[in-house]
Amino acid sequence: MIAKLFAAALLVLPAAAGYALWTGSWQLPDRWNPWAPLRIEEEPHWLTRHKLGRLGREPALCLQVLGTAQMRWAPVPDRVTGERCGLANAVRIERTQMHVGPAFVLSCPAAVSLALWERHVLQPAAALLPARVVRLEHFGSYACRNVNHATAGRRSQHATADALDVAGFVLADGRRISVLRDWSAEGAEAAFLREAHAGACRFFDAVLGPDYNAAHRDHLHLDRGPWRACR
Ligand SMILES: [Zn+2]
Repeated sequence: MIAKLFAAALLVLPAAAGYALWTGSWQLPDRWNPWAPLRIEEEPHWLTRHKLGRLGREPALCLQVLGTAQMRWAPVPDRVTGERCGLANAVRIERTQMHVGPAFVLSCPAAVSLALWERHVLQPAAALLPARVVRLEHFGSYACRNVNHATAGRRSQHATADALDVAGFVLADGRRISVLRDWSAEGAEAAFLREAHAGACRFFDAVLGPDYNAAHRDHLHLDRGPWRACR
């Protein structure tokens, strides 16, 4: 009897919820609505990656979401810069939540991932130090080249400004944290870097650090692209 009631409820409840949604008498909160735009400030959850993926297919929506980020940026015109190289829906970033030194060009979806990473990974992880991160040190983003600077092979995500190489951080108290020096060290700085690396995998597609290979001993490579890796 109870099993039958339970089975009936399983059928009726989703139907009732669907009907209420369809008639508009019940509205799904934006947070749980797969069609509502991503909100950078909102605590990420299982729909976040779905919403992030959508930004690659909808350029105008991506810029709208990026407009809500704590970031100073300007759009860059689309252009082809070389064989399998170019910019599409890219922005020039002058500052994020942090100082970034030289401005860099990044595709809009990668810029949104960066904003999520700073907001939901870097600043919380900085509690380990404890301090605030005030500067992001980078080796640049866009470069028309192949993976690992090889003369042949597939293009790097850098070739379309979908990747950023992060070399380290400066804290509010003046301390510097460097991937090259601190990754393999002991203590809070290393713990912070490991959190930064692991947390980046939540918002980027490929995240490569010093444990991946020697070419990445001094930076974290963060990209949005077709390949998923967290190494
Ligand atoms: Zn890289």
